[in-house]
Amino acid sequence: MKSIGFIGLGHMGTPMVKSLLKQGHQVKIFDVVADAVAACAEDGAIPTLSLSELANDAEVIFTMLPTGQDVENVWLNQAGLLNHAKPGTLLIDSSSIDVQTTRRLADLAEKKGLHVLDAPVSGGVAGAKAGTLTFMVGGNEEDFLTAKPILASMGTTIVHAGPHGNGQAAKICNNMILGISMIAVSEAFTLAKKLGLSAEKLFEISSHASGQCWSMTSYCPVPGLVATSPANYNYAPGFTAQMMLKDLYLSQQAAQMSHTSTPLGALATELYNLFVNQQHGQLDFSAIINMIAGKE
Ligand code: NAD
Repeated sequence: MKSIGFIGLGHMGTPMVKSLLKQGHQVKIFDVVADAVAACAEDGAIPTLSLSELANDAEVIFTMLPTGQDVENVWLNQAGLLNHAKPGTLLIDSSSIDVQTTRRLADLAEKKGLHVLDAPVSGGVAGAKAGTLTFMVGGNEEDFLTAKPILASMGTTIVHAGPHGNGQAAKICNNMILGISMIAVSEAFTLAKKLGLSAEKLFEISSHASGQCWSMTSYCPVPGLVATSPANYNYAPGFTAQMMLKDLYLSQQAAQMSHTSTPLGALATELYNLFVNQQHGQLDFSAIINMIAGKE
């Protein structure tokens, strides 16, 4: 069993900590929101008041933070991990952030004698609660093998994607597919309704036909068709539209940097930008169906 530090106790971090505790790991936790720390401590995690307190005896430290800037702050600030983790500690960033920041942070951390992996996840809050996340991991093979049994407490699919940054590259490409496919599913259900075809019938047919995809059969944006969909809970997140927009921006930044043409990714970014600008950023990303259907 490992001594683990976990920073970022939001929609994803809290259930991930619970999975680590269930496997018998000792988990010290930190978040800037005191209520998040208190809620997580009820399950047996050990609250800390600073990153240095969290880092002083941890063998492995996870970050699960909203943006690359947040990860950079937590890793590089004077009171941050690079100045307080013991040499030999394994830092695992599971946030979804850009490839360049990931590679730069890995380089700086390795110069301090730390081990580093990027290990972003797919599977959403439901996957985090069930312990069935997919981890896409960038970093060296030896560190991957150290991390694998720990990641297996939180996920069922754990893939080594290559060197530092390749986990993030996989995540960015995956979420570009997700953003585009959620819009495609939303358009199809909106069109079906106008054509007099019920959502139930389209679901029954398309979930067994070539239009089948995760956005439809695991996360349907229409209420009443998939029990766990945020659509059934007034689009409470889940995965916020704001976070989807962040990931789509990452895809466009990566596309520009690598001179890759991603026209549908660009259009999905525009549509999510419009949706977030209409003050819907805190709704689940599947709520974009309401904008597409012309509803308020
Ligand atoms: P969230 O906003 O719910 O949680 C982030 C947590 O980080 C919050 O509790 C916040 O207080 C904390 N935080 C922010 N800055 C901090 C700092 N400097 N120090 C300590 N704590 C700090 O976000 P989330 O939905 O849990 O997502 C986290 C990451 O996982 C994001 O990068 C997101 O893109 C990715 N992700 C989310 C989902 C999802 O379905 N929510 C799925 C896959 C990946």
